[in-house]
Amino acid sequence: MNSSDCICYKPPFSHLNYDTVELGIDETNGRFAEVSIQTCKHCQNRWLNYFIEIEGFSSNIRWFKAIIDNALLESLTPENSLELIEKAAWYFYGGSYYGSGVSVGRGKIIV
Ligand SMILES: [Zn+2]
Repeated sequence: MNSSDCICYKPPFSHLNYDTVELGIDETNGRFAEVSIQTCKHCQNRWLNYFIEIEGFSSNIRWFKAIIDNALLESLTPENSLELIEKAAWYFYGGSYYGSGVSVGRGKIIV
């Protein structure tokens, strides 16, 4: 099977399709973003997941996720994870801040 046909490429996403490992919190600029690695149970792709929720604002959830190469896992930290998503060929993003649905982006992420 071509891995891009996998359910992990097709929003809406369900956490049930992944084994999730929490990497930690990125406290850069006080954002307290939750960083995790989600391994797809079906195709074994590893997705780097970056989740920001600004407390006190109901429509302020933002998340980004990109496929991460196994070779990058060793050097991965919560603090450099957003940069790695920006460097990926493309990424998914969404959350209430952006309205409904999931979009595909690439390049610089403004947080
Ligand atoms: Zn998959």
